[in-house]
Amino acid sequence: MNPKRRPILAGNWKMNMTAAQARDLAGKLVPLVSGVTGRDIVLGPPFTALAAVAETIKGTNVSLSAQDLHWEDKGAFTGEISAEMLLDLGCRYVIIGHSERRQYFGETDETVNKKVRQALKKGLLPILCVGETLAEREAGKLNEIISRQVTGGLKDIPTSDMQKIVIAYEPVWAIGTGKTATPEQANEVHALIRRKIKALYSADIAEGLRIQYGGSVTPENVSTLMAMPDIDGALVGGASLKPESFAALVNFK
Ligand code: PEP
Repeated sequence: MNPKRRPILAGNWKMNMTAAQARDLAGKLVPLVSGVTGRDIVLGPPFTALAAVAETIKGTNVSLSAQDLHWEDKGAFTGEISAEMLLDLGCRYVIIGHSERRQYFGETDETVNKKVRQALKKGLLPILCVGETLAEREAGKLNEIISRQVTGGLKDIPTSDMQKIVIAYEPVWAIGTGKTATPEQANEVHALIRRKIKALYSADIAEGLRIQYGGSVTPENVSTLMAMPDIDGALVGGASLKPESFAALVNFK
């Protein structure tokens, strides 16, 4: 953590929670985090629960995120959701390029980039996810993969938009597996991303960029992760599905 960058703790609920369950979870969370200042708290319910959560968190210190969007404004894209629809429901953030979308739904750096550009064009704040698989790490391709995902995801993004972007580093082998990257391993990749951003943009942009870590973050390990100089937040799956554990995480010391 660096005092110049505001920590951002985001929950990715994935394909969990009906609208009623989501309302209940958000309703229980709000009082547990209402005293938190100086940190961004974000909930990412599935599309069908966005409206319920938006209502529940209205006027609180909790913001809403979608888990994906389409890159076109509107039209014949059956099953897809536009930026305008997300804004209409009160979304401020949108998660883009999560490894599950890259792995199971054929997302590429090119489609991820189109989505990042569309989010920015429409006024949503992208949380751009990057991360290597275990096979890529073991093959010594970590730098190459991360550099490619960062460069590809940010293609044609002007400097003026860079302060709106959050990058989430999520090693695929640590997501939902209980295997967290060590704080040192995570920080090393965060520093690599920051160096890449410095090369692509400037030292100032790199210093200001918030980089979240994601991959089996829990209330038990969040503090040691957040103590690392280049880790500015967490993107949390499993531990965000219970109000007490996500609140404990948000309240890290
Ligand atoms: C995620 O889905 O982004 C994630 C990091 O999941 P988990 O915390 O369950 O590993």
